[in-house]
Amino acid sequence: MPDSLTVPLTASLCRMRGTDEGPPRCVALEGEIGRSVRCTIYADRPSPCRDFAPYAGLGIGEDGCDRARARHGLPRLTG
Ligand code: SF4
Repeated sequence: MPDSLTVPLTASLCRMRGTDEGPPRCVALEGEIGRSVRCTIYADRPSPCRDFAPYAGLGIGEDGCDRARARHGLPRLTG
């Protein structure tokens, strides 16, 4: 992971740059939310991203996913 994409939290932990800002926007996210977006480091994305809403790709959301979608005026995922 390039240092330019992260913000150090502790000696062994870091956070994706932009995720601590308001409104949060990960620096690795490319595109327009609600239209077309992609993670530019998807194959190397950090573990919290791998664990988050694991079934979203199948149209099955979870509370955190639904809250994030609502912040952008998007409907809940169904499934
Ligand atoms: S999946 Fe990619 S774009 Fe989304 S928060 Fe993780 S690193 Fe950023």
